[in-house]
Amino acid sequence: MENDSLTRYSEITEKNRREIVLLRGAGCKWRRCAFCDYHLDFSSDEDSNFALNQEVLGQVTGKYGRLEVINSGSFVDLDRRTLGRILDISIEKKITEIHFECHWIHRGAVAALRKAFEAHGIQTKIKIGVETFDALYREQVLLKGIDETSPAKIAACFDEVCLLFGLDGQTEASMRCDIETGLAYFERVCINIMVENTTRIKPSPPVIDTFMKKLYPVYKDDGRVDILLNNTDFGVG
Ligand code: SF4
Repeated sequence: MENDSLTRYSEITEKNRREIVLLRGAGCKWRRCAFCDYHLDFSSDEDSNFALNQEVLGQVTGKYGRLEVINSGSFVDLDRRTLGRILDISIEKKITEIHFECHWIHRGAVAALRKAFEAHGIQTKIKIGVETFDALYREQVLLKGIDETSPAKIAACFDEVCLLFGLDGQTEASMRCDIETGLAYFERVCINIMVENTTRIKPSPPVIDTFMKKLYPVYKDDGRVDILLNNTDFGVG
């Protein structure tokens, strides 16, 4: 579904300052996560995606030397010309660190991506959405599609992890455990608070309240933790 009303370029000016672009790909190949409807931002028209992505990438200035690329799926869903353009822009704008997102099922593609960027001295940081390290909840309720329970093994191919809080059944202890596990095995943790969307998974106000009272004050100033109270808090979406 093409959606051109989205904001696709922004700057993150606190914590690990970086530019961020929301590009459009061919669509998430997993598409089954029970809480997600942002995979609806895709198009099977490769020329149209490239035209859009090229325009968005044209706004990158390189001012922070860091760029985060997201595309409502995994980097493998981006077309070859867009990936080439990202590399060209990164070289041109002297980006030294680039972030991509990737689902577990595409972990085999990470090494080649790293190699392509690292050949130009650009470090890659790959972010995986794990949502919770409680594997039973993650797979039976959230349908995340990660057939591995060990945080160390999940982290082997990835640098950064996204967690999803504000769901029925989560507690202060479970959320704290997820954050601490994330910090132990990954360089950075990005916490998303569930917001109302078109899926059957609904935000739990008491769980969000617990997070805000007990955990937000502890982690809000941690330089390794991003907290998105709203899914547009990075300025894109
Ligand atoms: S992998 Fe990401 S984009 Fe795909 S369905 Fe899950 S949360 Fe949505």
